[in-house]
Amino acid sequence: AIPALEVSGLSVEFPSRRGTLLAIDHVSMRIAPGEILGVVGESGAGKSITGLAVLGLLEHPGRISGGEIHVGGRRVDTLSEAELTKVRGREMGAIFQDPLTALNPLFTVGKQLVETIRLHSDMTKQAANARALELLQSVGIPAPEERLRQYPHQFSGGMRQRVVIALALAAGPRLIIADEPTTALDVSIQAQITALLRRLCDETGVGIMLVTHDMGVIAETADRVCVMYSGRVVESGPVEDVIHNPQHPYTKGLMAAIPSLHDRVETLAQIDGSMPRLNARPPGCAFHPRCPHAGPKCSAATPPLVSVGTTSAACWLQQGGCQ
Ligand code: SF4
Ligand code: MG
Repeated sequence: AIPALEVSGLSVEFPSRRGTLLAIDHVSMRIAPGEILGVVGESGAGKSITGLAVLGLLEHPGRISGGEIHVGGRRVDTLSEAELTKVRGREMGAIFQDPLTALNPLFTVGKQLVETIRLHSDMTKQAANARALELLQSVGIPAPEERLRQYPHQFSGGMRQRVVIALALAAGPRLIIADEPTTALDVSIQAQITALLRRLCDETGVGIMLVTHDMGVIAETADRVCVMYSGRVVESGPVEDVIHNPQHPYTKGLMAAIPSLHDRVETLAQIDGSMPRLNARPPGCAFHPRCPHAGPKCSAATPPLVSVGTTSAACWLQQGGCQ
């Protein structure tokens, strides 16, 4: 099958007066139709920038400086702004942390859904209305006929995020970028929303990039995971394998933050320190100042991402050692 998303060797830079910051350094990832790829890492890892680059929504002066992005087999990083706007609406949906940013407070949910549906199809108003109703039903909103006539402020946070998910699905996209979609919601609602994404992915065959800082969300929801650190992918593979047999010391540290997994994997007690700033990325393996296994080689050379069994990792430990 044609991948929903294929990112190869993507680099993103932010020119500034003090020089150019390389925010994303040769990142590659692939999402099959009907698959959820979890992209995980602490704040500053470059997860959101990767998602924004795919959507063509990098904030000025950020720009793609290398690599390629294909959505549904079509190269999108070279499209003009006008072409990209069309492709983005039809082929890609986006869900962000705060559902209010995606909704217009002045229009009913029904009007917003119908307009989005009609913008990307030649449906009559009546057909689009029927489709809007169906979408609200599919995202689990009770009494959808009534809800179509209501405004965003009349919905709870969780219900609002369901509306945003319905909007993201309205044009029948191949790919959805969901960036921290549950972070702003009550803990009791979070699992419902991730379960909804899982079901919609299975039912519609849309590919989902699920960006989160929470390895627990990945463990419950994703098929495969991509762990990012300081603008690079440091480990990737099937979720089960990465969770039960993490290779990279940073992944092991992230796992330690999931309480339910504490007794199942050998982990670092915690990762001391914090993600380096982009203008101060340490040389070699950027994780070396925080890594309990770091040796002389780690600050001298950047480890490439290589296959380690069913997963891939970028760490000298699996490549002849750190001395
Ligand atoms: Fe730690 Fe070295 Fe591996 Fe980086 S390359 S994660 S510093 S052991
Ligand atoms: Mg982010």
